[in-house]
Amino acid sequence: MKAFQLKNIGNAGIAEIPAPEIQEGQVLLKVRANALCRTDAKMWKMGHRDLILPRVLGHEFCGTLASDEKLYVAWPGNACGKCDFCRKGYENLCDQMEIVGFHKDGGLAEYAAVPEKNLLPVPDNLPDKLACMAEPLACTINALTMANVRKDEKVLIFGAGPVGLMMALAIQVRNAEPTVCEINPSKIQMSRNFQRKTGITVTEKVPQGKWNTVINAAPALETFTDGVKNLISGGSFCIFSGFTKNCPQPSMAKEMVNALNEIHYRQLRISSAYGCTRQQIRLALKILENQADILSLLIEKTITIEEIPQILPKIWAGQALKYIVKPI
Ligand SMILES: [Zn+2]
Ligand SMILES: [Zn+2]
Repeated sequence: MKAFQLKNIGNAGIAEIPAPEIQEGQVLLKVRANALCRTDAKMWKMGHRDLILPRVLGHEFCGTLASDEKLYVAWPGNACGKCDFCRKGYENLCDQMEIVGFHKDGGLAEYAAVPEKNLLPVPDNLPDKLACMAEPLACTINALTMANVRKDEKVLIFGAGPVGLMMALAIQVRNAEPTVCEINPSKIQMSRNFQRKTGITVTEKVPQGKWNTVINAAPALETFTDGVKNLISGGSFCIFSGFTKNCPQPSMAKEMVNALNEIHYRQLRISSAYGCTRQQIRLALKILENQADILSLLIEKTITIEEIPQILPKIWAGQALKYIVKPI
């Protein structure tokens, strides 16, 4: 079968490989749609903590089973189901976690092997190109849950990439008030249809104000130091995106100490989110069904597997909304 494979860091391309063999408890999913994610581009450019090479990338996908021709989203995790984390509903924290597209081959191929228990049925009226966005949307739901975002609260998101915008919509669905801050004017332009349709503001300057919650959907450390300054006392910062490792300027160390002290003096809270649970994918599928018109605005284009190599640099540069790959 045809697949998009990362062989080494910086070296990815189309490969002809055998269809995956099914292990016990797994099923073979014919991949119908796989959304490209900035994490795919990150793995290609600089690797990732959870990446094992060589790897067929892709963790945001849906597909059909040969047995019933129905569409399913695959939760990309594989948790043990028995440990304390799994039993308490934090299966994304399972010590034995293996992620499809990271530890195991993923959805940027004609077929993917996934545990049967990870399949979540897609509502009949939801097309595959939208259903595959359930995973990133579910990750934003995880962040809102961990940050305990409640009705009428004001939430500031740093980063107007597709996931920042999805998060803003998920906040609006909760009847809270999102605002998105984006330093790149071309990205603000890119989201103008989304802004018009939702009434959500995307602004270039950090809006001064008192936010109940600030969440970073962008990797710059300044999102943390600026975000903390603008929280109400007792408010919460949620770390959603990992921070870039190379510290931009020496003065940042001082800024970080100031931010940590501000957390202390004003009893601010820190939360964080990584990945999502199956239940959060179910919730995301509901939002996708109800908000299909709006979420469609986040799709840049539908492409083939062969087109991925030329698109990945664009995603890495943050110059695109969602590209949906249709492998077949
Ligand atoms: Zn992703
Ligand atoms: Zn577990």
